[in-house]
Amino acid sequence: MRKKIVAGNWKMNNDLSASTTLAAEIKAGLSSMALTDIEVMIAPTSVNLQAVAEVTKGAPITVAAQNMHYAENGAFTGEISAKMLQSVGVNTVILGHSERRAYFNEDANLLAKKVEQALEHQMKIVFCFGEQLEDRKENQHFNVVENQLRDALFQLTPADWQHIVLAYEPVWAIGTGETASPAQAQEMHAFIRELIAEHYDEEVAEDVCILYGGSVKPSNAKEIFSQKDVDGGLIGGASLKSEDFLALIKAI
Ligand code: PEP
Repeated sequence: MRKKIVAGNWKMNNDLSASTTLAAEIKAGLSSMALTDIEVMIAPTSVNLQAVAEVTKGAPITVAAQNMHYAENGAFTGEISAKMLQSVGVNTVILGHSERRAYFNEDANLLAKKVEQALEHQMKIVFCFGEQLEDRKENQHFNVVENQLRDALFQLTPADWQHIVLAYEPVWAIGTGETASPAQAQEMHAFIRELIAEHYDEEVAEDVCILYGGSVKPSNAKEIFSQKDVDGGLIGGASLKSEDFLALIKAI
């Protein structure tokens, strides 16, 4: 049975002090909440992973990285390996975020290698994908999403899928204030689950968590999260204020 997840992607925001303060506020807020079958995840920038992991120790919070490299180690200046993440207690990584695809040329081939490497280390992967506005206008959004999943994930075994969380993030809704309607989100999530059922089986499809991302905020979260195939959210802007992030967790 899949659980619900509320994940905050802090992106390139928050220095050390702001990161630990925000993490501590979230930890304090969670202490009075009953979190049955709900996972709370936060993804600070990599230099602050260790400090945030320290601050959140003992709290029901998963600390995730925003990215990692596909190689075990070596001459890749500026990069971070799976082993390095694990050495600071981080076993979850976001891969394929649209900003990484757009600004750092991450394509399906590269992402498939990163996925393979993360799985090699038994890490949990939050795999992001989603169509551009033009794709939706041209009614190509289902094809685009299908190709993104096929190219990076459909080589995995059914057992591998226990480590995968999907995050459908229509690019036109990220950081724009524009949200997919609850019906649009549900339509795409149901399509994704059906696709996985066709390629694998019902069990894999029913077990995988599919998050929605794109301008989710306290005012619209309840309606989006209440959709049958929406298992939570990957949140950017609204995860930077503890009050808003905690409100999103309450909305699920
Ligand atoms: C994101 O970057 O994953 C995201 C969903 O951002 P925002 O919530 O700000 O749209």
